[in-house]
Amino acid sequence: MKTRSIEVVVSPPNPHYVGDGFRVHNFIPSGYHLDMQRMTPFIMMDYNSPFYFPPTDKPRGVGVHPHRGFETVTIAYKGKVAHHDSAGNSGVIGEGEVQWMTAASGILHKEFHETEFSKAGGDFQMVQLWVNLPAKDKMSKPKYQGITKDQIKKHQLADNAGVVEVIAGQYKDVKGAASTFTPVNLLNTRLNKGGKASFSFPKNYNTGLLVIEGSIKVNDTEAVEANNFVLFENDGEDFAVEATENAIVLVLSGEPINEPIAAHGPFVMNTRNEILQAMEDYNTGKFGYLEE
Ligand code: MN
Repeated sequence: MKTRSIEVVVSPPNPHYVGDGFRVHNFIPSGYHLDMQRMTPFIMMDYNSPFYFPPTDKPRGVGVHPHRGFETVTIAYKGKVAHHDSAGNSGVIGEGEVQWMTAASGILHKEFHETEFSKAGGDFQMVQLWVNLPAKDKMSKPKYQGITKDQIKKHQLADNAGVVEVIAGQYKDVKGAASTFTPVNLLNTRLNKGGKASFSFPKNYNTGLLVIEGSIKVNDTEAVEANNFVLFENDGEDFAVEATENAIVLVLSGEPINEPIAAHGPFVMNTRNEILQAMEDYNTGKFGYLEE
């Protein structure tokens, strides 16, 4: 197997606010002038690097808004996120937990800091990914997977190097908790200082990693600090990560969905006509109802 080389290390782009509760660096697609195809099936990645929100009685977040054609995946690292959607699903996730919402044919949802967290204030850190759906599944029924800590299976690395938490896909003998429409690997890797982990994915899978905490060395050569994103080439299967201090690394790798992308705001479809249809369906109430 050949080593997968690094295409670029992307430092965090200037942050912007999504609503008033998510202060995010947009790595995909704008962080490296990527188009939405470069990391397909991961078409968007916002990263709220650690940020202190002072106490408030009015939870911060983003109010009711629609999505169609893909999945939103939120991973909490610090703080708590509450989700409600028009399909009647809701949930709160805390540190190390995941919300995997399949918008598919259309949903309204709202995303806020959890009430008690808001009242106390505190450090907040999370990742939101948009995972595209293939054309045949874009109009399937919406669903919600709230993935709690105890549902996430772990692979213990040798030599007390750390653990790989398998959110989706597979690592060694461990399978992920999330069900996905196309092959997606989402691996939360916690390494002790000096600990090493190796990864292998098919060459055509688009692959990257985000350093959530600490610092690492990739393929024995490239030093990467916290809050940086590594985009890999599609020139090999294997890469290795070594923690130069205690580190958390989110590894993402997925089979490309090689279909046209037509995107407009919260809608990601295949054609412009499908986008116009999504707008009409939204405006005529076909996405259901959700209280503000
Ligand atoms: Mn949303």
